[in-house]
Amino acid sequence: MPTPDETELLALIDGCLHRLAEQLEPIRGVLDDPVIDPKLRTLLVTASATADWVLTTARTMVGNQAVADRREHVAQTAAADVDANNFVGLIRSIDHLYDEAVAAVTANERDERDRAPRGSYRPSQLWSVTLPLKDATVRIPSYTQLAADCFVRLHQPATESEAPQTSSPEDCVCRNRPLTYTELDSHYLGTDHTDGRHGEVTINQCHHCGQRWLRYYYEGWHSYAGRWFQTPVSPVIEQTVKPETATAVLDCREYFCGGSHFSGKVRWTSGPVDLWG
Ligand SMILES: [Zn+2]
Repeated sequence: MPTPDETELLALIDGCLHRLAEQLEPIRGVLDDPVIDPKLRTLLVTASATADWVLTTARTMVGNQAVADRREHVAQTAAADVDANNFVGLIRSIDHLYDEAVAAVTANERDERDRAPRGSYRPSQLWSVTLPLKDATVRIPSYTQLAADCFVRLHQPATESEAPQTSSPEDCVCRNRPLTYTELDSHYLGTDHTDGRHGEVTINQCHHCGQRWLRYYYEGWHSYAGRWFQTPVSPVIEQTVKPETATAVLDCREYFCGGSHFSGKVRWTSGPVDLWG
Protein backbone atom coordinates (compact mmCIF):
# COMPACT_ATOMS: atom_id res chain seq x y z
CA MET A 1 0.00 0.00 0.00
CA PRO A 2 1.35 3.46 -0.81
CA THR A 3 2.06 5.66 2.23
CA PRO A 4 0.08 8.95 2.61
CA ASP A 5 3.09 10.84 1.18
CA GLU A 6 3.22 8.54 -1.82
CA THR A 7 -0.52 8.88 -2.32
CA GLU A 8 -0.16 12.70 -2.34
CA LEU A 9 2.72 12.62 -4.80
CA LEU A 10 0.91 10.16 -7.08
CA ALA A 11 -2.24 12.31 -7.00
CA LEU A 12 -0.23 15.36 -8.00
CA ILE A 13 1.49 13.50 -10.85
CA ASP A 14 -1.91 12.30 -12.01
CA GLY A 15 -3.18 15.90 -11.89
CA CYS A 16 -0.22 17.06 -14.01
CA LEU A 17 -0.80 14.32 -16.59
CA HIS A 18 -4.46 15.29 -16.76
CA ARG A 19 -3.59 18.98 -17.32
CA LEU A 20 -1.00 18.02 -19.95
CA ALA A 21 -3.66 16.03 -21.82
CA GLU A 22 -5.90 19.13 -21.77
CA GLN A 23 -3.12 21.18 -23.35
CA LEU A 24 -3.20 18.88 -26.37
CA GLU A 25 -6.79 19.85 -27.16
CA PRO A 26 -6.07 23.19 -28.91
CA ILE A 27 -3.77 21.37 -31.34
CA ARG A 28 -6.33 18.68 -32.11
CA GLY A 29 -8.99 21.34 -32.60
CA VAL A 30 -7.17 22.94 -35.55
CA LEU A 31 -5.72 19.93 -37.34
CA ASP A 32 -8.52 19.96 -39.95
CA ASP A 33 -8.41 23.72 -40.43
CA PRO A 34 -7.60 24.51 -44.12
CA VAL A 35 -5.39 27.41 -42.99
CA ILE A 36 -2.80 24.92 -41.69
CA ASP A 37 -0.16 24.14 -44.26
CA PRO A 38 0.29 20.39 -44.98
CA LYS A 39 3.86 20.22 -43.66
CA LEU A 40 2.80 21.91 -40.45
CA ARG A 41 -0.22 19.62 -40.18
CA THR A 42 2.04 16.55 -40.40
CA LEU A 43 4.22 17.95 -37.64
CA LEU A 44 1.28 18.77 -35.37
CA VAL A 45 -0.31 15.34 -35.93
CA THR A 46 3.01 13.69 -35.08
CA ALA A 47 3.55 15.90 -32.01
CA SER A 48 0.03 15.22 -30.78
CA ALA A 49 0.33 11.42 -31.30
CA THR A 50 3.75 11.33 -29.65
CA ALA A 51 2.52 13.36 -26.68
CA ASP A 52 -0.42 10.93 -26.35
CA TRP A 53 1.99 8.02 -26.32
CA VAL A 54 4.18 9.77 -23.72
CA LEU A 55 1.18 10.40 -21.48
CA THR A 56 -0.03 6.79 -21.75
CA THR A 57 3.44 5.45 -20.97
CA ALA A 58 3.85 7.90 -18.07
CA ARG A 59 0.46 6.82 -16.67
CA THR A 60 1.52 3.17 -16.85
CA MET A 61 4.77 3.96 -15.00
CA VAL A 62 2.84 5.87 -12.34
CA GLY A 63 0.31 3.02 -12.07
CA ASN A 64 3.16 0.52 -11.56
CA GLN A 65 4.61 2.83 -8.94
CA ALA A 66 1.28 3.01 -7.11
CA VAL A 67 1.08 -0.76 -6.64
CA ALA A 68 4.79 -1.35 -6.02
CA ASP A 69 5.80 -2.24 -2.51
CA ARG A 70 7.96 0.55 -1.20
CA ARG A 71 10.36 -1.68 0.77
CA GLU A 72 10.98 -3.74 -2.31
CA HIS A 73 11.75 -0.54 -4.17
CA VAL A 74 14.23 0.66 -1.59
CA ALA A 75 15.94 -2.73 -1.88
CA GLN A 76 16.23 -2.13 -5.62
CA THR A 77 17.44 1.46 -5.48
CA ALA A 78 19.38 1.21 -8.74
CA ALA A 79 16.32 -0.09 -10.62
CA ALA A 80 14.19 2.65 -9.05
CA ASP A 81 16.70 5.30 -10.19
CA VAL A 82 16.49 3.99 -13.74
CA ASP A 83 12.70 4.19 -13.53
CA ALA A 84 12.85 7.77 -12.28
CA ASN A 85 15.32 8.78 -15.00
CA ASN A 86 13.14 7.18 -17.67
CA PHE A 87 10.08 8.97 -16.39
CA VAL A 88 11.84 12.36 -16.20
CA GLY A 89 13.25 11.99 -19.74
CA LEU A 90 9.94 10.80 -21.10
CA ILE A 91 7.76 13.46 -19.53
CA ARG A 92 10.15 16.32 -20.30
CA SER A 93 10.19 15.28 -23.98
CA ILE A 94 6.73 16.87 -24.21
CA ASP A 95 8.42 20.28 -23.69
CA HIS A 96 10.56 19.70 -26.78
CA LEU A 97 7.61 18.53 -28.87
CA TYR A 98 5.77 21.74 -28.09
CA ASP A 99 8.80 23.94 -28.65
CA GLU A 100 9.13 22.36 -32.09
CA ALA A 101 5.45 22.81 -32.85
CA VAL A 102 5.51 26.48 -31.78
CA ALA A 103 8.64 27.15 -33.85
CA ALA A 104 6.91 25.60 -36.89
CA VAL A 105 3.70 27.58 -36.37
CA THR A 106 5.67 30.80 -35.90
CA ALA A 107 7.62 30.13 -39.12
CA ASN A 108 4.37 29.42 -40.98
CA GLU A 109 2.94 32.70 -39.70
CA ARG A 110 6.08 34.57 -40.78
CA ASP A 111 5.93 33.04 -44.30
CA GLU A 112 2.34 34.14 -44.61
CA ARG A 113 3.27 37.66 -43.56
CA ASP A 114 6.17 37.75 -46.04
CA ARG A 115 3.95 36.56 -48.90
CA ALA A 116 1.28 39.20 -48.26
CA PRO A 117 1.52 42.38 -50.38
CA ARG A 118 3.13 45.21 -48.40
CA GLY A 119 0.78 46.77 -45.88
CA SER A 120 -2.00 44.24 -46.47
CA TYR A 121 -1.02 41.62 -43.91
CA ARG A 122 -3.66 40.91 -41.32
CA PRO A 123 -3.09 38.44 -38.53
CA SER A 124 -4.81 35.40 -39.99
CA GLN A 125 -6.74 32.50 -38.58
CA LEU A 126 -3.32 31.02 -37.91
CA TRP A 127 -3.48 33.01 -34.72
CA SER A 128 -6.18 30.67 -33.55
CA VAL A 129 -3.45 28.03 -33.56
CA THR A 130 -0.56 30.17 -32.44
CA LEU A 131 -2.10 31.74 -29.37
CA PRO A 132 -3.36 28.57 -27.63
CA LEU A 133 -0.14 26.83 -28.57
CA LYS A 134 1.98 29.60 -27.06
CA ASP A 135 -0.17 29.61 -23.93
CA ALA A 136 0.32 25.86 -23.72
CA THR A 137 4.11 26.16 -23.97
CA VAL A 138 4.09 28.49 -20.97
CA ARG A 139 2.10 26.05 -18.83
CA ILE A 140 3.46 22.74 -20.05
CA PRO A 141 7.00 22.93 -18.55
CA SER A 142 5.52 23.59 -15.10
CA TYR A 143 3.47 20.36 -15.35
CA THR A 144 6.29 18.24 -16.74
CA GLN A 145 8.75 19.63 -14.16
CA LEU A 146 6.38 19.07 -11.24
CA ALA A 147 5.44 15.54 -12.38
CA ALA A 148 9.15 14.70 -12.79
CA ASP A 149 10.06 16.15 -9.36
CA CYS A 150 7.22 14.23 -7.68
CA PHE A 151 8.26 11.01 -9.39
CA VAL A 152 11.88 11.47 -8.27
CA ARG A 153 10.66 12.25 -4.73
CA LEU A 154 8.78 8.94 -4.69
CA HIS A 155 12.13 7.17 -4.92
CA GLN A 156 13.73 9.07 -2.07
CA PRO A 157 13.68 7.77 1.49
CA ALA A 158 10.69 9.01 3.48
CA THR A 159 11.40 12.09 5.61
CA GLU A 160 10.68 12.36 9.34
CA SER A 161 7.00 12.82 9.99
CA GLU A 162 5.77 16.08 11.40
CA ALA A 163 5.11 16.83 15.06
CA PRO A 164 1.42 16.32 15.87
CA GLN A 165 -0.72 19.31 15.01
CA THR A 166 -2.70 21.16 17.62
CA SER A 167 -6.09 20.73 15.94
CA SER A 168 -7.45 18.90 12.95
CA PRO A 169 -6.63 21.08 9.91
CA GLU A 170 -9.99 20.19 8.34
CA ASP A 171 -11.87 21.95 11.17
CA CYS A 172 -9.57 24.96 11.37
CA VAL A 173 -10.53 28.53 10.59
CA CYS A 174 -7.81 28.55 7.87
CA ARG A 175 -10.05 26.25 5.79
CA ASN A 176 -12.87 28.78 5.82
CA ARG A 177 -11.08 32.04 5.12
CA PRO A 178 -7.57 33.28 4.32
CA LEU A 179 -5.63 34.01 7.51
CA THR A 180 -4.49 37.48 8.51
CA TYR A 181 -0.78 38.12 8.96
CA THR A 182 -1.02 37.81 12.73
CA GLU A 183 -2.31 34.25 12.34
CA LEU A 184 0.49 32.79 10.26
CA ASP A 185 4.23 32.39 9.78
CA SER A 186 5.46 33.13 6.30
CA HIS A 187 8.46 31.59 4.58
CA TYR A 188 9.55 32.94 1.19
CA LEU A 189 10.17 30.14 -1.30
CA GLY A 190 11.29 32.24 -4.28
CA THR A 191 10.10 34.10 -7.37
CA ASP A 192 8.59 32.50 -10.46
CA HIS A 193 9.97 34.22 -13.60
CA THR A 194 8.06 32.06 -16.11
CA ASP A 195 6.86 34.10 -19.10
CA GLY A 196 8.31 37.31 -17.64
CA ARG A 197 6.08 37.11 -14.57
CA HIS A 198 7.31 37.93 -11.12
CA GLY A 199 5.20 35.56 -9.06
CA GLU A 200 6.14 35.58 -5.38
CA VAL A 201 5.86 32.13 -3.86
CA THR A 202 5.62 31.67 -0.10
CA ILE A 203 4.73 28.93 2.33
CA ASN A 204 2.45 30.18 5.10
CA GLN A 205 1.87 28.14 8.22
CA CYS A 206 -1.34 28.49 10.22
CA HIS A 207 -0.80 29.38 13.91
CA HIS A 208 -3.97 27.54 14.91
CA CYS A 209 -3.45 24.11 13.37
CA GLY A 210 0.02 24.10 11.78
CA GLN A 211 -1.34 23.54 8.25
CA ARG A 212 1.00 24.76 5.50
CA TRP A 213 -0.37 26.81 2.60
CA LEU A 214 1.37 27.36 -0.70
CA ARG A 215 0.73 30.97 -1.72
CA TYR A 216 1.33 32.53 -5.14
CA TYR A 217 1.13 36.28 -5.50
CA TYR A 218 1.24 37.98 -8.88
CA GLU A 219 1.09 41.75 -9.10
CA GLY A 220 0.53 41.97 -12.88
CA TRP A 221 1.35 44.84 -15.22
CA HIS A 222 -1.91 46.79 -15.09
CA SER A 223 -4.04 48.35 -12.38
CA TYR A 224 -6.40 45.86 -10.82
CA ALA A 225 -4.29 42.95 -12.11
CA GLY A 226 -3.00 41.86 -8.68
CA ARG A 227 -4.07 38.39 -7.62
CA TRP A 228 -3.13 35.67 -5.19
CA PHE A 229 -3.84 31.96 -4.93
CA GLN A 230 -3.31 29.62 -2.01
CA THR A 231 -3.77 25.94 -1.40
CA PRO A 232 -3.08 23.66 1.58
CA VAL A 233 0.01 21.48 1.09
CA SER A 234 1.47 18.56 3.02
CA PRO A 235 5.15 18.61 4.07
CA VAL A 236 6.14 16.28 1.22
CA ILE A 237 4.63 18.64 -1.37
CA GLU A 238 6.23 21.62 0.38
CA GLN A 239 9.61 19.89 -0.01
CA THR A 240 9.00 19.12 -3.68
CA VAL A 241 7.51 22.34 -5.05
CA LYS A 242 9.69 25.04 -6.66
CA PRO A 243 8.74 28.63 -7.54
CA GLU A 244 8.37 27.61 -11.23
CA THR A 245 6.05 24.69 -10.39
CA ALA A 246 3.85 26.46 -7.82
CA THR A 247 1.19 27.31 -10.42
CA ALA A 248 1.15 23.65 -11.53
CA VAL A 249 0.40 22.55 -7.94
CA LEU A 250 -2.46 25.09 -7.80
CA ASP A 251 -3.75 23.99 -11.22
CA CYS A 252 -4.17 20.44 -9.87
CA ARG A 253 -5.83 21.45 -6.57
CA GLU A 254 -8.64 23.38 -4.96
CA TYR A 255 -7.51 26.79 -3.74
CA PHE A 256 -8.49 30.22 -2.42
CA CYS A 257 -8.02 33.12 -4.81
CA GLY A 258 -8.43 36.83 -4.36
CA GLY A 259 -6.95 40.25 -5.12
CA SER A 260 -7.92 43.30 -7.16
CA HIS A 261 -8.16 41.21 -10.38
CA PHE A 262 -11.07 39.39 -8.72
CA SER A 263 -12.58 42.69 -7.49
CA GLY A 264 -11.31 41.95 -3.99
CA LYS A 265 -13.60 38.92 -3.66
CA VAL A 266 -12.17 35.77 -2.13
CA ARG A 267 -13.27 32.47 -3.66
CA TRP A 268 -12.58 28.80 -3.06
CA THR A 269 -12.24 27.26 -6.50
CA SER A 270 -10.32 24.85 -8.75
CA GLY A 271 -8.98 24.58 -12.31
CA PRO A 272 -5.97 26.23 -13.99
CA VAL A 273 -5.12 29.50 -12.23
CA ASP A 274 -6.00 32.69 -14.07
CA LEU A 275 -2.66 34.41 -14.64
CA TRP A 276 -3.23 35.75 -18.14
CA GLY A 277 -6.55 37.58 -18.00
ZN1 LIG B 1 -5.35 26.24 10.42
